[in-house]
Amino acid sequence: MSKVRVRFAPSPTGGLHLGGVRTVLFNYLFAKKHKGDFILRIEDTDQTRFVPGAEEYIFKCLEWCGLQPDESVHNGGAYGPYRQSERKEMYRQYAEQLIKDGYAYYAFDTPEELEAKRNEIPNFQYNQFYRNKLKNSLTLPEDDVAKLLSGGTPYTIRIKIPSDETTIVIPDIIRGDVSFDTQQVDDKVLLKADGMPTYHLAVVVDDHLMKITHAFRGEEWLPSAPVHVLLWKYLFGLDKMVKWAHLPLILKPDGNGKLSKRDGERLGFPVYAMDWKDSNTGDIIKGFKEIGFLPQSFNNLLAVLGWNDGTEQEIFTMEELIEKFSIERIHKAGAKFDFEKAKWFNHEWIKKLPAEDLKTEVEKIFINNGITISDDSYLIKVIELIKDRCTLLTDFYAQGSFFFATPTIYDDASVKPKWAADKKDFFETIAEQLQHTNEFTATIIETIFKEVAAVKNIKVGELQMLFRIMLVGSKTGPAVFVIAETIGKEETIKRIKLAVNHFETLNA
Ligand code: GLU
Repeated sequence: MSKVRVRFAPSPTGGLHLGGVRTVLFNYLFAKKHKGDFILRIEDTDQTRFVPGAEEYIFKCLEWCGLQPDESVHNGGAYGPYRQSERKEMYRQYAEQLIKDGYAYYAFDTPEELEAKRNEIPNFQYNQFYRNKLKNSLTLPEDDVAKLLSGGTPYTIRIKIPSDETTIVIPDIIRGDVSFDTQQVDDKVLLKADGMPTYHLAVVVDDHLMKITHAFRGEEWLPSAPVHVLLWKYLFGLDKMVKWAHLPLILKPDGNGKLSKRDGERLGFPVYAMDWKDSNTGDIIKGFKEIGFLPQSFNNLLAVLGWNDGTEQEIFTMEELIEKFSIERIHKAGAKFDFEKAKWFNHEWIKKLPAEDLKTEVEKIFINNGITISDDSYLIKVIELIKDRCTLLTDFYAQGSFFFATPTIYDDASVKPKWAADKKDFFETIAEQLQHTNEFTATIIETIFKEVAAVKNIKVGELQMLFRIMLVGSKTGPAVFVIAETIGKEETIKRIKLAVNHFETLNA
């Protein structure tokens, strides 16, 4: 078998939706599993839909996810250029070849004439039923066609969908043979009046020229596949055709239709991999990265949207995915997107990764919130203590800011009913005793704390709650004596004293 070569072929028309990243991921996993190549080709032949910045954004997203192409506009390769607009001159010969062989024709109808037809005939399509009544090289005498061409009359080249065949079969790895009725397929434009190919011609020519072996793409492309299969048959032969797999749709949480950008906005979760700035409105649409997802969990949750390895396993490393992935195990049915489940994946990954691997991202979050980190090993210690409590990376700030800054606000409502003279006395004694301990470990602090409580005959539970609020500001956080040990002796004593003063004002 020839070397596996797969491609992701986005049109740079906007932000990269999670369905797009899943397509990348499945391509990538398949390529890596088979020691093949993963190619990124920019399909920008439709200049009217071009969005500035979209191409760069796609590369950034793939970089974040760690799904780097082997060949692309950025890193080159033997089959470039990898941007279709730069390959413009390559396509015409194929369109002309099709005309010569009787599989395509010149169409001279102006946009206005076609518009008039659309208004006149309900559901008008340029197809086998209407093409004989329109202005093209199938209906006009040969001389007229030659004159129009030499006179520079604008034209498009359209595929001639066969009227003598009833079905077109798309062999699909996931779906088996999918049949389309030729009567339902219109004569798609292959080459536009400006000389640019349409997506249909370019995708087939490029898959062939770039020696692509497998084409995996979203199910929404299945209706275009009959045209692609015919082009393969007419130009290169079906034995050379890529192996198709149309990936299941990602559905709205309730399963009612394809997940859209608007659903994310409506339901309050991201659908783009990274923040995307809408160039029309200037609005920033939040991405998974920025709201605090790890690339590991993003890849993992996308991998299991429509695929499983046949066991109950849900958490997969990239290495495991590469090893276990198979296109045959992708489901046909759409996969519902569940944001709560997505967060669960992130939580599991935060717990799973060593603090060292989370450090860079967590540090950025603290810095963005105005906290300066001067000691790396201290940060690592803090991450280790709180990571099991964090679902999103952004939670690290709420869960851990008190390790870096003395609280300024306290949970007064919880303190008020418990604060009294005996508590004041207890904490003043504790501050005093801690001052004289040499070894400041959680165990020693706890021992002292409990001994003093016993001597003073006060319930330890209440005291611990107060101690926690003194150190944290609230009732959250890991084991209180561990917090004390971590922030250190001086800071602990300082916080006790500050809090005692504040708590004293509550019942005044
Ligand atoms: N250019 C198409 C897109 O924007 C690619 C479809 C395909 O992979 O054939 O998604």
